Amino acid sequence: MTLPNEYLPAVGSPDTAAPESYAFAFLNGRLLVHIEDKAARLPNLADLDALHLDATVQLTTVRRQHLGSFHGRDLVSLELHADAEAPEGMLLENLRALFFRLDEELFWLAARAVQIVAWDRDHQICGRCGTPTEDHPKERSKQCPECGLTHYPRLSPAVIVLVERGDQILLARSPYLPAEMFSTLAGFVEPGETLEQTVAREIEEEVSIRVKNVRYFGSQPWPFPNSLMIGFRADYAGGEIVIDEDEIESADWFTVDTLPKIPPRISIARALIDSWIGEQS
Ligand SMILES: [Zn+2]
Repeated sequence: MTLPNEYLPAVGSPDTAAPESYAFAFLNGRLLVHIEDKAARLPNLADLDALHLDATVQLTTVRRQHLGSFHGRDLVSLELHADAEAPEGMLLENLRALFFRLDEELFWLAARAVQIVAWDRDHQICGRCGTPTEDHPKERSKQCPECGLTHYPRLSPAVIVLVERGDQILLARSPYLPAEMFSTLAGFVEPGETLEQTVAREIEEEVSIRVKNVRYFGSQPWPFPNSLMIGFRADYAGGEIVIDEDEIESADWFTVDTLPKIPPRISIARALIDSWIGEQS
């Protein structure tokens, strides 16, 4: 996973952004891109502003945010009007579907942008007292001028776990995965839990397996819609697989020679499985 190293976050007014700024324009989580053969390319602000002036194209912006800069170019995110349509040569595409088509660093910046756009949209009004909120001038937050409540972008941390038993790993199928695909188990952190407790609870709940030696692997933003995936490896400590049928269709132990279809390279699940495959010989 190539996260953008040259990204400098910033907050501030999007109104002063230069015409060549990268423009992350979203409509309900779908990103507006130029399509060139199979590749996708981000528009810049000048492209979009030209389209805004074209009365034949329905492409107005509801809100904009300044996200910082990347290789010296400003980044602006935009929420498109609900009636917006992609003009000729452009496409409004589900962000996840763009992983293999957009430059990877820009994809991960889009993953930030989609969450900021959603947060901005969802926190126009204070959730406690109903007063319109105001942008904080120096940090990514909105404040309520009436009751003082601060609204930060919401992140939902989740653990994702590769469980090992000898030369086998535990993989499971949820009904949301593509046909025949198996993946590592995952679940959201509950208030008051340590990550290690979440790992133990989720594995026990979903497949009735106990684990030990829980160790950190790495993390990944997962903007569908606002997770932070925190990856672990763990060792089998006991129990037989009994699946929670509300969450899982099937689960089993696999060796490197019997692996089923596994998730694509975008996901930390795949990174976990690949790291284990690399250790088998
Ligand atoms: Zn309030």
